[in-house]
Amino acid sequence: MNIKSSMVGLQPYQPGKPIEEVKRELGLKEVIKLASNENPYGSSPSVEKAIMEEFQNIAVYPDGYAQELRTKTANLLGVNEQQLIFGNGSDEIILILCRSFLTNEDNIVIADPTFSQYAHNAVIEGTEIKAVPLNNGVHDLDEMHKAIDDNTKMVFVCNPNNPTGTYVNEDAFMSFLKKVPKDVLVVSDEAYYEYVTAEDYPSTLPLLKDYPNLMILRTFSKAYGLASLRVGYGIGSEKLIREIDPGRGPFNTNTIAQKAALTALEDQEFIESCYRKNKTELAKYVDFCEKNGFDYYPSQANFILMDLRKPGSDIFQYLLSKGFITRNGEALGFPTSIRITVGTPEQNDKIIEELTNWLV
Ligand SMILES: *Cc1c(COP(=O)(O)O)cnc(C)c1O
Repeated sequence: MNIKSSMVGLQPYQPGKPIEEVKRELGLKEVIKLASNENPYGSSPSVEKAIMEEFQNIAVYPDGYAQELRTKTANLLGVNEQQLIFGNGSDEIILILCRSFLTNEDNIVIADPTFSQYAHNAVIEGTEIKAVPLNNGVHDLDEMHKAIDDNTKMVFVCNPNNPTGTYVNEDAFMSFLKKVPKDVLVVSDEAYYEYVTAEDYPSTLPLLKDYPNLMILRTFSKAYGLASLRVGYGIGSEKLIREIDPGRGPFNTNTIAQKAALTALEDQEFIESCYRKNKTELAKYVDFCEKNGFDYYPSQANFILMDLRKPGSDIFQYLLSKGFITRNGEALGFPTSIRITVGTPEQNDKIIEELTNWLV
């Protein structure tokens, strides 16, 4: 029994360290996880009640088509219901796209570093990865365009980019999209869309009617605070969605998750308040870096990558000993950096105090 050769040596996804494990290992009572860009304020208070009511239905398979959630999402976005595909997290949409489009004769173009799941899923399909270095932490769309050849099937633009938090602006994205051959799918992964503050962030939804080779990814895992329930979605042309839909598992989003997402969507005030708090709190980290002369990437998301000029594993271990799980930059391609998810005001103040005590 031989596993297919593309899987040999692949590592499973390395998540941020689980809270319970850290508590046990270090004998800490309170441990705060700021490693996976989850919402520190949880989710809309209305979600809990809504999902409790769904418990009476858990013996029954979910609606695989997610009709109610589909209608609500389509209305909110101003697209047709047939332009949406829901997934077990937007991770699953990435998987569905890869299994639908890629073979061992193709390649994809991505930035380096960027979100790990694009390359991971493409590698499983035996596909070549063309990784184009970031330019000052930002996708180098000119070089990415040059990397496209006759065998390129997809280009992933992670916007804002994980792990840098940087963004591609409207002008750069538009001129790129215009140049990309029409038979190459451009995937705009907008997992942090709700946190973006930049005025010139591209508004991609209106582009769908002119660019049938554009796919937009959004998720309920980050600002909506539903990471554990696993719902994300893709938005594309009706034809594209129809073509990839058979690649989706039959009941890939569950009843409770669908209900939670539907309810969370109705509470845009909660999203608005998380957006405002994130903006204020993110500025504290920027301030800390500016004051102390540390490099950082300007972030449009709910995390920040800071170069503290010490080995990432040392910074990680130090913050861990203080009860904070963060992301070691070494694993993300930035050996002297740390990526921290913006937490609550108290959490951020405490981290900055600890870092100041240690480094300054
Ligand atoms: C978190 C994240 C996702 C995946 O989120 P799901 O929980 O699978 O919806 C996708 N893209 C980026 C860039 C992310 O950071």
